[in-house]
Amino acid sequence: MPSLDALKLRLEEERDRLQSQIEAVADRPAEYRPTVDSYYGNHLADAGTDTFEEEKALALEAHLSGLLSKVEEALRRFEKGTYGICEACGQPIPPERLEALPYATTCVKCPPAAARRAR
Ligand SMILES: [Zn+2]
Repeated sequence: MPSLDALKLRLEEERDRLQSQIEAVADRPAEYRPTVDSYYGNHLADAGTDTFEEEKALALEAHLSGLLSKVEEALRRFEKGTYGICEACGQPIPPERLEALPYATTCVKCPPAAARRAR
């Protein structure tokens, strides 16, 4: 079984990695931002590309932020002493699952999506 300390360390590393990736996306080069020139200039094709790049960057930023909040939530659960306990049924989450997905908040039987699905 992976020790909780090892998992916590992995989560902390993951948090740092995500934070620096988010910063990298936020600090993306100015040419990826739509400019007045690309909107009002004579090159509409370029404007389309800029918008596409901007959308990709925003989607990536949203994806990374989502992951970061899961990792931060898992670290908070360590502090509360509820790490490794399924949020849905209160049973311990199997170590293999935590090993594969250190920020899992539910056991294999209780995926969050299933809890939200009306039956
Ligand atoms: Zn469960």
